[in-house]
Amino acid sequence: MRPFKIGNILISSFVEREGPWRQPEAMFPTSDKATALAHLGEMPSWVYDAGRNLLIINYQTFVVRTERHTILIDTCVGEDKPMRSSGLAYPKQSWLDGFSAHGLRFEDIDYVFCTHLHVDHCGWNTRLVNGRWVPTFPNATYIFGKREYEAWEAEAALGKPEDQQAAIWEDSCRPIVEAGQARLVDSDFELEDGIWLTPAFGHSPGQVCVNFRSGDGHAIFTGDMMHHPLQCREPDWSTCFCSDPGEAAQSRRRILAEVADSDTVVVPAHFPGQTAGHVLSDGDTWRWRFMSFIDQSWISSGPTD
Ligand SMILES: [Zn+2]
Repeated sequence: MRPFKIGNILISSFVEREGPWRQPEAMFPTSDKATALAHLGEMPSWVYDAGRNLLIINYQTFVVRTERHTILIDTCVGEDKPMRSSGLAYPKQSWLDGFSAHGLRFEDIDYVFCTHLHVDHCGWNTRLVNGRWVPTFPNATYIFGKREYEAWEAEAALGKPEDQQAAIWEDSCRPIVEAGQARLVDSDFELEDGIWLTPAFGHSPGQVCVNFRSGDGHAIFTGDMMHHPLQCREPDWSTCFCSDPGEAAQSRRRILAEVADSDTVVVPAHFPGQTAGHVLSDGDTWRWRFMSFIDQSWISSGPTD
């Protein structure tokens, strides 16, 4: 994603993996292929590998630099994590390289927001050091939605063997709380003026969006509220990973309606390429437009004074 600014906030990302991943009909169980292909035909070629019938999916961490804080949003899959599906065992060096290419050290991070606590959003929260899971970012406060954290805590308490979500909670979430670096917050939490959460339940029990406002600018990081631009055209298509597909669709329709036809920059976790964009209304559904750099004074250096 090319860096961009809203007001005095600089937003960028680095990528753990981007590439062809899932068939539309597998990702969206209630979809139909002809409708999906019709929509995909109207989208940029780099959102869909037509030859292999695979959507292009990005796994990335966002960096938000405000005048006071350096903030990460979502931390991808991470390394050394047991009980992960084989498809997530791809090399993780690109994430580390991307992090250092931002001129960052682990010590520099002030806050880590997790939109939710699925495998690809909290993995780098911790690292394995001398056989123990320790917070990757020693000076950071990690912001977890209380509802989300407690849902997976309850799941882990069931003690089911081979439960991947319980393993994720055990190695990537619980150690943060035990280290005293977590803040479990309500779904409408406000960190300070201009940084706040909005609920978007359904994909997971307590998924939230993270909002930033600076000057006239507003950006909303929507996590997995949607995975692909197809879901603007077909907002009722929830994914095979959604814990409550109906609630996920309701959240998606609500948020798309709120941001449509405005200057709000929407930053979904998994959209490929430029990732960020705007939502345009079209009858009772929407269209996605990736952010254009043609006539905007986007910059690629730090925040201005
Ligand atoms: Zn995800």
